[in-house]
Amino acid sequence: MHAVRTRFAPSPTGFLHLGNIRSALYPWAYARKHHGAFILRIEDTDAERSTQEAVQAILDSMAWLGFDYDEGPIYQTQRMDRYREVVAAMLAAGTAYHCYATTEELDQLRAAQLARGEKPRYDRRWRPEPGKTLPTPPAGIPPVVRFRNPLGGAVAWQDAVKGRIEIGNDELDDLIIARSDGVPTYNFCVVVDDLDMRITHVIRGDDHVNNTPRQINMILALGGAEPVYAHLPTVLTPEGDKLSKRHGARGVLQYRDDGYLPEAVVNYLARLGWAHGDAEVFSCDEFIDWFDLAHLSSAPGRFDPDKLKWVNHEHIKRLPADELGRRLGPFLEHAGLDVAGGPAPASVAELFRDRIATLAEMADAAHYFYADPTHAINVPTKFAEVMTDPVRSALPELLAAFESVEWSREAIGATIKSVAAKCGLKTSQLMMAARALVTGEPQTPPIDAVLALLGRQHTIDRLHRGLAG
Ligand code: GLU
Repeated sequence: MHAVRTRFAPSPTGFLHLGNIRSALYPWAYARKHHGAFILRIEDTDAERSTQEAVQAILDSMAWLGFDYDEGPIYQTQRMDRYREVVAAMLAAGTAYHCYATTEELDQLRAAQLARGEKPRYDRRWRPEPGKTLPTPPAGIPPVVRFRNPLGGAVAWQDAVKGRIEIGNDELDDLIIARSDGVPTYNFCVVVDDLDMRITHVIRGDDHVNNTPRQINMILALGGAEPVYAHLPTVLTPEGDKLSKRHGARGVLQYRDDGYLPEAVVNYLARLGWAHGDAEVFSCDEFIDWFDLAHLSSAPGRFDPDKLKWVNHEHIKRLPADELGRRLGPFLEHAGLDVAGGPAPASVAELFRDRIATLAEMADAAHYFYADPTHAINVPTKFAEVMTDPVRSALPELLAAFESVEWSREAIGATIKSVAAKCGLKTSQLMMAARALVTGEPQTPPIDAVLALLGRQHTIDRLHRGLAG
């Protein structure tokens, strides 16, 4: 048994969404599970559509999600000499041949075939055969190179997702492998790469199923062994459209910037085409441990943003406090908050983790720990209902008690309760007022816990300021 070697082979031609990056997850996990190699290959031969920006998005997305590769990135544009070498070798071996048919000729052929109700196809006019006399090559016309596809018989493979697939060779044209300007074509480059990189398992989107029989024929003609193929169904939107920018898909890195955890995104993507019993929330290591090709789904997954958010929240709940704080820090900074001037992010995260599903939303909710919420408090109408006269007259008493009480959550809670009782208020009325004045928010985690973490001085200062305002 050869060591497992898998690859992710994206074309850097645009936007990278979660459906695209899922095609990296499975080959990566498969290589990791079998202690094999995972290779990143950038299929950038389409000079018009490939961009450096798209390459960067691929590299950054993979780094963020932890899809480390053992080889690469290998750029196809840097392998042109190698492709030309293989074209030359195939011409020499007779597994490929020059074709001088002009575009006009091929158009005519096509029109005639269509008129007869036939499927248009190249008629192999330049294909050498024993006993066949080929036309004289026209002068001054650079030929294309075509692959000599086998005649008769069929190509079949056992797809790890779709089961057995068989295509008659007569369905397959003699594919152009190099254009007249010498530039090798897409399917040919994939074959040379998969062979040179000794890929054992091709795990990719099922938009490539039609290429597979052609690729297998070329692999065999080159004396290689066909890899295992696993063609993943396309990811759909909740409405059943193909996931795309046009149908609201967002870039992978947008999720990073919105405060999704990479392990949650990996977890969600894993489930979007594969299952392990009814496990919904799992770590990356568990995924790698459980992953196999047999449990890839043959039905298209539907991308559900609410479920992704739920999975993210579950991971936020599970993360150790220190780690969660370490990850929250940059989001607080990004929100313009003075992290050093407030409580440790880990303590803040502890307060919010049960109620908030993303790090960006958490940073947003935690603003009052790091900045005075005076702007909010000064809106006189915002808390008009909370700041009734009886509440206002109770607040100085609360303030006075706060000056000397032990600064713990329990003692703060007990103090609010006893001052409320003494002033004939409900505890909740006084809590809401303290919350409004100290945080500027109508809702927060339990106010005694918030005040304990915020500290006595900030609490007292803000209550004072609120009462004066
Ligand atoms: N470059 C192709 C794509 O981005 C993938 C080719 C392959 O995996 O064989 O769709």
